[in-house]
Amino acid sequence: MAELASLLAGIVGAAHVLTGDQVPAEYSHDEALGVDARMPGCVVMPASTGEVAGIVKVAAAHGAPVTARGGGTGMSGGAIPAQGGIVMSFERMDAIVDIDTVNHVAVVQPGVTLARLDVATAEAGLVYPVFPGENSACLGGNVATNAGGMRAVKYGVTRHQVLGIEAVLASGEVIRTGGRFVKESTGYDLTQLIVGSEGTLALVTEATLRLYPRPELQATLLAPFGTLEQVTRAIPEIVASGAEPLVLEYIDMLSMAAITAQADIGLGISDQIRATAQAYLVLMLEGYQPGRLETDTEVVGELLAGLGALDVYVLPPHSARQLLEAREKAFWVAKAAGADDIVDIVVPRSALPRFFARVAQISQEIGPSLVAGCGHAGDGNVHLAVFQPDPALRSHLLRELFTAGLSLGGTISGEHGVGIAKQRYFLEFTDPVKIGLMRRVKQAFDPQGILNPGVLLDRLGSSDG
Ligand SMILES: Cc1cc2nc3c(=O)[nH]c(=O)nc-3n(C[C@H](O)[C@H](O)[C@H](O)COP(=O)(O)OP(=O)(O)OC[C@H]3O[C@@H](n4cnc5c(N)ncnc54)[C@H](O)[C@@H]3O)c2cc1C
Repeated sequence: MAELASLLAGIVGAAHVLTGDQVPAEYSHDEALGVDARMPGCVVMPASTGEVAGIVKVAAAHGAPVTARGGGTGMSGGAIPAQGGIVMSFERMDAIVDIDTVNHVAVVQPGVTLARLDVATAEAGLVYPVFPGENSACLGGNVATNAGGMRAVKYGVTRHQVLGIEAVLASGEVIRTGGRFVKESTGYDLTQLIVGSEGTLALVTEATLRLYPRPELQATLLAPFGTLEQVTRAIPEIVASGAEPLVLEYIDMLSMAAITAQADIGLGISDQIRATAQAYLVLMLEGYQPGRLETDTEVVGELLAGLGALDVYVLPPHSARQLLEAREKAFWVAKAAGADDIVDIVVPRSALPRFFARVAQISQEIGPSLVAGCGHAGDGNVHLAVFQPDPALRSHLLRELFTAGLSLGGTISGEHGVGIAKQRYFLEFTDPVKIGLMRRVKQAFDPQGILNPGVLLDRLGSSDG
């Protein structure tokens, strides 16, 4: 490692290479639950694409694994390095290269956080619409995980916003894909292949992202329901109504109690309704014209009442903000309460009632276990906190949950990714023909297997995948 670190220091400067005791523990993990941290041999912080390419060439020459790292907020263990490997942290590549107000495009380096991009786009009256729950996440990490979040129900996920990228390949060569345009029909779509590849195919050094006009007006409705089934049955009706919600989240009773207690917010819900409600829908609309937004809010409110809501609250802006912030912090609340794992299964939204019925059965049959949550119901994407401390029972439980989701036409992860945490289930449940093809894609991009080995796909012939 000493020789490698000295070569890396020659590229980025000694101040930007950390080794041994200098490496803070945070570089050994992300936010995934139930996976072990691993200390890297060194952390290197490049400042340019040229430096990234130089580092990759040195790593390739030494056969040293390279794990890219953005904000370290990932939920799948994708930023956990190979033991003794290189962490490439993009914290110094944090320039917003351009906010192009004519083409509605942002060009960013991978270390730009969502929080900073939001401020910069707001100044231009524009918005980058992907809002995963943690604003310290970086755009490089978002691209690599195909991040989703609450607003995907209206705007889609990261994949739908990435118009082009610059990336460093495992050979050290640099490619550019796409550009400041919204359509392309010129061969295989390398942009989309790299989006969601969890740092296993290439290192993203710049992203060209789609922006939208930023509507100034928002209205938030909160609707408690007597059963979770009623909530899930309401969702397709709301989507079909043409209301185009910006946010359409469900929160089950336990999660609502926990996140509102943690944030110390009341929301004006009466004790009687609180005692009866088993689940809640949070629905946000956005618009440009006050009159139109008021009408839409009224129409949606009536629709919710007709679908069986116990009441419908139009939240004042301050309360709406508090509720959405509390919802975004649901993961921290579950973690503090001792959650053993988080799954983010996605199913067709029409299948949500059957999925939740099966979740209730499974959690009784295995353990019993506690499974509670909230999620992007408009996308059919649920975030379930799993409380089952016994590893064997928990693995059985997860397997049953994934089986339930898959049998209803869904998949293992809607947005958190596979990483290390869900790899064995991904390999077990995915068509072997597809896995074989993915292995060949990986081989074509990274024949030596130096980019994030053991993440997403296992390392062939090794036992630590
Ligand atoms: C409280 C909380 C709420 C969350 N809510 C959501 C949510 O609603 N929706 C959602 O989708 N996610 C959510 N997440 C998960 C997380 O924020 C996302 O996965 C995010 O995209 C990770 O970004 P990051 O910069 O932290 O990436 P990291 O964790 O640093 O890395 C994630 C993956 O990307 C790779 N990577 C990072 N940078 C690059 C690069 N430049 N080139 C190639 N590969 C790279 C890493 O190797 C790793 O595999 C949440 C997390 C937390 C803690």
